[in-house]
This record gives sequence, C-alpha cells and structure tokens, in this order.
Amino acid sequence: MNISFNTLLQKENFTKDDIVRLLKASGEQEKALFKRSHEVKLEHIGNKVYFRGLVEFSNICKKDCLYCGIRATNKEVNRYDIANDQILKAAKFAHEHKYGSIVLQAGERSDPAFVSRISQLLRDIKKISNNELGITISLGEQSAETYQKWFDAGAHRYLLRIESSNAELYNKIHPNNEEHSHATRLKCLQSLQDIGYQTGTGVMIGLPFQTYDDLANDLLFMKKFDIDMVGMGPFIEHDQTPLYQYKDQLMSLNERFRLTLRMIAVLRIMMKDINIAAATALQAIDPLGREKALKIGANIIMPNITPTQERANYLLYQNKPCIDEGADDCTNCMEARINMADGEIGYGQWGDSLHYKSRH
Ligand code: SAM
Ligand code: SF4
Repeated sequence: MNISFNTLLQKENFTKDDIVRLLKASGEQEKALFKRSHEVKLEHIGNKVYFRGLVEFSNICKKDCLYCGIRATNKEVNRYDIANDQILKAAKFAHEHKYGSIVLQAGERSDPAFVSRISQLLRDIKKISNNELGITISLGEQSAETYQKWFDAGAHRYLLRIESSNAELYNKIHPNNEEHSHATRLKCLQSLQDIGYQTGTGVMIGLPFQTYDDLANDLLFMKKFDIDMVGMGPFIEHDQTPLYQYKDQLMSLNERFRLTLRMIAVLRIMMKDINIAAATALQAIDPLGREKALKIGANIIMPNITPTQERANYLLYQNKPCIDEGADDCTNCMEARINMADGEIGYGQWGDSLHYKSRH
C-alpha cells in the first residue's frame, strides 16, 4: 500500500518509485512538495542567493549535439570569440559589483592554443580581482591534464552536465560517433572530482524520448556521484537543430517548466547542502521562472554579463531572455526580483557548495 504523500515527503531516502511519484505531483501535492523543499533549503543553507556573473565568451564549438543551437554544423550562426581584454572587462564589472564569482562558458574546443589561452585568462582574472572572484568554468569535455592545468591556474568549480544519466537516451540526442560518448562524459566528471574541483552537473528536462524513470534516475545519479552543484533546466527546442523534428511529441513548455521546478524541489530534499542554480532557460518560459526556482530550493543565479553585442549569437534555444540588455540592467532587475522571492543576495561572497566543504 502507498504511504501518504506527506509521509513520503519526510522520508530520509527516496527510492526511484518515490521520486517518480514526487515528480508527478500536481495541485495540493505539488504545493506540499514545494513547501517541504523550501523548508529544507532554509534549514540547511539559509535564504542567501549567490551570483555567478555569466560570460558566454564564444559560440565556436567542435561538437554537434542534436539539441543545441550553436552546434558545429549550424551554418546560420554568426560565430564569435570575445577577446581576452573584453572578458577581463566583464570580470572587472563582476568584481566591482560584488558578484563574488563568475562563470566562463563557451562551445567546446581543446586545441593547445585554446587551452593555454584559458590558463592565462584564469590567472589574469585572479590578478585583477586580488584573488577575490571565484571562478567556475564550463568548457565541455577535456583531458584530465587540461582540467588540472585550469585548476592550477585558478578555476575551482566546473560545470559539465551529464545531459541524461541514461546512456541510451544520451545516444539518441547526440550524433553517433566517438566525439559524443556518454562514457567519456562520465570519465570527465570523475576526473573533475578527482582533481578537486567543486563538480557540477545537470540534465535537460522534457527531452524527446525521456521518461519519468529517466529523470528519477538522473536525481539518483547526482546523489550517488556525490555532486556538489547542479544546474538543470527545461529543454527548449531550436528550429535549426535535428531534435526540432520531435517538437509535436514534447510536453508543453509550461509542463516542462513545472517539471523542472519539481526536479529542483526533490533534489533539494535529497541533497540538502548542495548548490542548485536557477537555470536561465526557466526564464525563457516564465519571466519570473528563476525566482520561482529560488523560492523552492535553488540558491544560485547567473546574471548574464556577456558584452551585449554578442548575446544574440549565443542562442542555444529560442526566446532566450536578456539578449538586449546591458549587464547593469540585468543586475538591477535581478536584485528586485530576488527580494520578491524572499532571498537575500550574498554580495561579494563566493557562496561555495557547503556539500563540497563537508567532503574536504
Ligand atoms: N559546451 C559546453 C557543454 O556542452 O558542456 C558548455 C556550454 S553548453 C551550451 C551548456 C548547456 O546548454 C549544455 O550542457 C546543455 O544542457 C544546454 N543546452 C544546449 N542546448 C539546449 C536547449 N536546446 N535547451 C536547453 N538547454 C540546452
Ligand atoms: Fe557545443 Fe555545448 Fe552546444 Fe554541445 S551543448 S553543441 S558541446 S555548445
């Protein structure tokens, strides 16, 4: 016999079936889930929200993921690569505005010139900020040697979404070649953790072919891997990508949005002290999407501080928010909204994952 929903919410460890039941919650049950995840968040990590100024510095990518708007073979994209001095300017902006941390994100490249350029950039960011800016990088799959070089140069957090913990589903949303291998992705995550990065991962929610079981397994994977940070968001189709052909089989955008909130809430209950980002893709569906995520369990927000002229070219999916705004506009609107979501900004603080700290 099924235990009551409220009893389920109090359980210490969820089985896969428990998680599926939680992910399917609606109405009063969904409300109870969000109330519980909110309480867990306040009890274990408080109401502080930490900024990560996001610099999407290049849309040049050697990969061809079937869902991504900036995939290598999309000829419609205007490719850009922001010069180091402009990236440093953005880092300076983040430092001066007490963001605490930045995230450097781009398409995947691993040629030696790129690897040493990033090492130099990391050292320069450390220097101009007197070692005060925390640095997360999200530059895809690299060799353990490269990850180590970047760690030594000053990066201390790395985001590499597993995209799906189900290798079969992963294969369906990536080209069938060695460049796109689930096993390699896993190996990369393991290297990052072994080197000592605060290791972040995540998945897309509402992908074609994805089931509730897949999503429950994704959350169990994060727990088993003892991940420190998670950024997961709704899949949003892009009409210049192969996955667009499945658009009629997808859940509605609103369903993907609600399901993402439930994924965040369940994960917060399962992993009480990790950092969870309110993904930008949530805001593409609901203007207050990220704030809703903060209220129910997320504690990290990534204001976009990419120089404005290039933002429109980093379109992973359509209807991406804030592509016309300067960094200042973004900061101001975000501050007001976080206050509305009962959050308090941890200005000037790194806001490292407490989970990572407890492991070291
Ligand atoms: N290239 C690096 C990588 O793939 O890890 C970092 C940048 S990549 C654009 C960051 C994330 O964007 C991916 O991990 C993927 O989950 C997400 N993404 C790409 N296309 C998307 C889409 N159509 N909808 C939602 N998220 C998407
Ligand atoms: Fe490249 Fe990342 Fe997009 Fe894949 S998801 S095509 S690796 S930018």
